[in-house]
Amino acid sequence: MNDILIQNTTNFFCEKFGNEPQKIVLSPGRINIIGEHVDYNDGYVLPAAIDKVICFAFEKNNTKKSKIFAIDLNEEFEVDLTQPILLSDVVWTNYILGVIKQLQDNGFAFEGFNCVFSSNIPVGSGLSSSAALECGTLFGIKELFDLTISKVDIALLGQKAEHWVGINCGIMDQFSSVHGIEDKVIKLDCKTLEFEYHNANFSDYALVLFDSNVKHSLFTSEYNTRREECEKGLSIIKNHFPEIKSFRDCTENQLLSIQDKMDKTVFKRVHYVVKEIARVTQACEALDNGNITVLGQLLFDTHDGLSNEYEVSCAELDMLVDTAKKEDVIIGSRLMGGGFGGCTINLIKKGYENEVKNKFSSLYLDIFGIELKFYDVKIGNGTSLYKPNTK
Ligand code: ADP
Ligand code: MG
Repeated sequence: MNDILIQNTTNFFCEKFGNEPQKIVLSPGRINIIGEHVDYNDGYVLPAAIDKVICFAFEKNNTKKSKIFAIDLNEEFEVDLTQPILLSDVVWTNYILGVIKQLQDNGFAFEGFNCVFSSNIPVGSGLSSSAALECGTLFGIKELFDLTISKVDIALLGQKAEHWVGINCGIMDQFSSVHGIEDKVIKLDCKTLEFEYHNANFSDYALVLFDSNVKHSLFTSEYNTRREECEKGLSIIKNHFPEIKSFRDCTENQLLSIQDKMDKTVFKRVHYVVKEIARVTQACEALDNGNITVLGQLLFDTHDGLSNEYEVSCAELDMLVDTAKKEDVIIGSRLMGGGFGGCTINLIKKGYENEVKNKFSSLYLDIFGIELKFYDVKIGNGTSLYKPNTK
């Protein structure tokens, strides 16, 4: 699937700069199987890199300037590496400037390069094309100039670059883009960055994302409120159970025993969090045992929690998951990401994907007047060099 992308990117580079590229880098987007809204609540997440990538072609240009061309936008920019790096008005350039700035600020020495890139990751749909852009640029510069940077540091520098752009993201996106392994999910502790891989063989089921094509503006304000509510809930839990240091130490029974000590809304929020943290571990067990129907049910449970207790869903996402529940060939579905729009992630029995897509498209169009989009995804490798002869 990525062969055409790689070929086009390479051809474009050759035409633009008159040489073959010295390095070709593929940097993937990511999904999160389960573990939603728990990264900032001391929980675990279960992401994976996907087979949709940004392809970059690089060469050194023996100057102190870098030229970068975004093929998909037909836009380019030049940056003088001897001058202070400042935010620009052109958003996409900032992710690259941010990466350059982070490398410079952390003492990595490199010189001018030429780069072109093109992507098949849907942009702005929650598959983290921004992390792919940061990690791919970092990886390419590391490879061109023989810099010693670990995978974890690429993820951390990418995250800092995104903060510099103005998005206060956690570490999951960059971490999964860099650490992905084909057919494996990553159980990641976002706090300590400890992680372990679990085999993700979905056997007879395909992963399909349904893009609701909506983005409700509630996200930022509600996100901040959720964080406050969870902090409040945790302090009440700690008062009653001094041995509990964070949500991951709290059982559902302990929480239920002090339900009347907190207001209803705070209880609902922390009830979701405690159960979701447990679900990530249950999901790993289900994968280890090859029990995909159990995994599917956990996805439905997560959605119920996000919709009714954490209250970060919306009519469009609820309709997609409620409809999925009624389909025998869909064994799991939930909203993926922060909520209030974006995609649902679905496990669909192989062979029925087209039937399901047709049915959902027309239903969704009828009810909301909006086109539903679909992305078939497989779990792929993390950011890496493309070596033509080995493929
Ligand atoms: P997401 O990461 O969920 O896809 P974001 O809004 O975080 O959405 O990041 C998308 C931004 O990343 C785009 O607005 C653009 O600035 C940059 N970007 C992603 N892919 C490309 C691309 N192929 N070409 C140019 N810029 C891109
Ligand atoms: Mg992003």
